[in-house]
Amino acid sequence: MEPKATLNYAEETLKTLEKQGYHFVGTHKHSAVKTCLWLRRSIRGEGNCYKGKFYGISAHRCIQMTPSIFCNQRCVHCWRPLEAFNIGADEEQVVWDSPAEIVEDCIKEQGRLISGFKGSDKTSTAAFAEAAIPKHAAISLIGEPTLYPYLKELIRNFHSRDMTTFVVSNGTNPEVLREIRPYQLYISLNAPDEATYKKASHAQYWTRINESLDEMRMLKGRTRRVIRVTCIEGLNMTNPAGYAELLGRANPDFVEVKAYMHIGYSRKRLSRDAMPTHLRVKEFAREIAEALTALGYNYTIADESEISRVVLISSNTNL
Ligand code: SF4
Repeated sequence: MEPKATLNYAEETLKTLEKQGYHFVGTHKHSAVKTCLWLRRSIRGEGNCYKGKFYGISAHRCIQMTPSIFCNQRCVHCWRPLEAFNIGADEEQVVWDSPAEIVEDCIKEQGRLISGFKGSDKTSTAAFAEAAIPKHAAISLIGEPTLYPYLKELIRNFHSRDMTTFVVSNGTNPEVLREIRPYQLYISLNAPDEATYKKASHAQYWTRINESLDEMRMLKGRTRRVIRVTCIEGLNMTNPAGYAELLGRANPDFVEVKAYMHIGYSRKRLSRDAMPTHLRVKEFAREIAEALTALGYNYTIADESEISRVVLISSNTNL
């Protein structure tokens, strides 16, 4: 059957995103690639992202991509223009590209973007040569990847090219998390309780997110499991015991407690004061770690990256 229609978002929003450095790939413009600040630093030998410090990823060999610029939540801290990319009633109108086409195009587009660094005095020759062969796909750029119906196959396609994968999900589709096997699975946890969740994410998926936490628990030993708590001052930096209860339920290998960053479209919704300092993030991470201990879970603070305002809490029993 011929697909019904095309995408339902505004051309001008796409153009705005293109101006912000998002490069659409595939035929139907629901997938995108973007090089990040850390790739630029890494290819110049000027440092690496916290994922390098925590998990051994080289930013210059990492493709940051999404197979779905759409999302089913409307988080206040999101970088995206929420109004234009929500998926819901019109979901059936999306024509999805195949995983093979998306992966192929992502690799090509990343290669084209990397080629722009050739000839610069600042570029490290060794890093430039390595960057030509990407080793990692961070499926986390914008949007919710579990809305792409062939995510499992997309991950397999990356793996078949000798690449590793991170998937960052908002946890609203537990049945997809049950199916996929990325090298590392993140669930974003925006709140310690349902009332705060509704304020932060403007959605009604709390029960499903809790189911995803249960799915994560069952994935122990099959993939590296991480929960990311994005801290927004004045909104969700409360109730560490509530976070600890949910974290204990999911039993992740790591918890990243990270500051909200005042960038992109989030600046229209939150003030700069909503971005906590690294010290404040550290304090809150310590409170969560203590609450985990009080509940009998074995976690400790393992690392931090001040520049990215992130603290890593590690399980002492899973790894
Ligand atoms: S879940 Fe992620 S992509 Fe979706 S609205 Fe929230 S921050 Fe944005």
